[in-house]
Amino acid sequence: MTNKYMYFIANWKMFGGLNTLNSLHKVDKFIKIFKKKKLTKIIYCPPSTLIRPMCKKLKNSLIKVGAQNCHEKDDYGAFTGSINSRMLKNVGAEFVIIGHSENRLTGETNKLINLKIKSALKSGLKVIFCIGESLKEKRKKMTKKVLDNQLKLGLYKIKDKKNILIAYEPVWSIGSGLVPKSTELLTIIDFIKKKYGNYKVLYGGSVNSKNINQFKSIDNLNGFLIGGASRDSNKFIDIIKKTYN
Ligand code: PEP
Repeated sequence: MTNKYMYFIANWKMFGGLNTLNSLHKVDKFIKIFKKKKLTKIIYCPPSTLIRPMCKKLKNSLIKVGAQNCHEKDDYGAFTGSINSRMLKNVGAEFVIIGHSENRLTGETNKLINLKIKSALKSGLKVIFCIGESLKEKRKKMTKKVLDNQLKLGLYKIKDKKNILIAYEPVWSIGSGLVPKSTELLTIIDFIKKKYGNYKVLYGGSVNSKNINQFKSIDNLNGFLIGGASRDSNKFIDIIKKTYN
């Protein structure tokens, strides 16, 4: 493995309070002295309530901060409870996750995802665009068809490849302990890159320090989106170290 740059993106989901930010100094200290630091891009995506304090904490760090979702409108408006991409940028976020399966499951459509990506790019955020098939779809051998549809509609009329990272996250692997076979992952990433161009493609779903070695043979992989294992700084550091060993 070890492509030019490897991304390690932490998705904290709906976890974490101000006290949890204290553990970040370990990751910050680690990356500053890590031999492969120039190849390593670390991004933390905490809940929105922690974006500003996290940015302050990581002011002189190599670690970047992102959000976990945004409203599709980049302008202000009467949308109670929503946060738009402009607001995220304003408090220091540089990235935003869009299209996570946990949000698709509660009604986020490909069309809405497309609008969100456009709005995020317009506000100057980089997008972590999540795609992935369900277990039912995998069993029916529909994986490529589902991914193709998510990519086609999600990226509709978007030309900016530089500021979008694609995160392939099979729904059945998220939080389940199950991961795809290396050969499957290699084929899927190859399919995405050949059909949609030179995007960086990450893998997400149950990545941890015990199974990270399985991904080493996948040389078209550009990094990982990590949920559960990213909330423990020691485990997160271990994943990064083992990626290069
Ligand atoms: C995720 O939800 O983006 C994710 C990758 O979760 P986990 O690592 O916990 O499977």
